[in-house]
Amino acid sequence: MTSTDGDGDGVSGDGTDRPHGDRAVLALAREDWRAAADAYVQAAFATFAGYEGFGYGAFGDRTEVGVAVADLCRASVCHRLAGATDRARNRAAQGALVAADARDHVASERVDEAACEEFVGVCRVLADDPDEAAAAFDRARDAYADAAVDDPAAATTRPIQQAGTDLLTHLSRPDDVAWDDVHGTGGDALGRRVRFLRSKVPEFVAARDREGKLHAARASTEYNTNYRCPACDATDVNYHSPAVLCLRCSAVVEER
Ligand SMILES: [Zn+2]
Repeated sequence: MTSTDGDGDGVSGDGTDRPHGDRAVLALAREDWRAAADAYVQAAFATFAGYEGFGYGAFGDRTEVGVAVADLCRASVCHRLAGATDRARNRAAQGALVAADARDHVASERVDEAACEEFVGVCRVLADDPDEAAAAFDRARDAYADAAVDDPAAATTRPIQQAGTDLLTHLSRPDDVAWDDVHGTGGDALGRRVRFLRSKVPEFVAARDREGKLHAARASTEYNTNYRCPACDATDVNYHSPAVLCLRCSAVVEER
């Protein structure tokens, strides 16, 4: 899998423009946690610098800082699975610093400051610092209340919030929480979201530790296909840009 940039616009020709992220997915499929951690760190910094994720970078109006912090969180989980707890804490602490910097100096709206606080909270969970995590989730709750957005459900699709939701659903696999599980029916979507993060992120991280596995995130999926997983015989698949993966165990079913 290589990234192509035929027209020189800095945007690769593949569907997601996540060459490092794609390598991370393949490493997850091999259960090579150290390689996955390294690839997610590279994805984070490449995204931050505007070399991945269609070139938005961390500091523009359409900031991808949430994607960068989410990838540092994924790296942290992978380091945990590799047994490198010190590196797991380092990645989480890096993520918290980036999120706090974005909160103070990049986000221009209160609703995005709240999303940055959510990320500080998730990073502090991953750094095994529950008191700091609780304080960050309190600040996120208060910032969302201050923001008093007209349409809370629509606010969940802002870039930083969307990156947070994507991380949450990834960490929940194979249980696969859905948007409604996180946000309810919409009226108190943001308040509910913070409560969900506060209670569920520690559970998800503990579950991944217990199972010794981080599945690939859910991309587009199909059930009862003609594919058959070489590892577990399942016929349900998860289509990622570098490979067709087994939806059940995340093994590679077919390279693309
Ligand atoms: Zn399988």
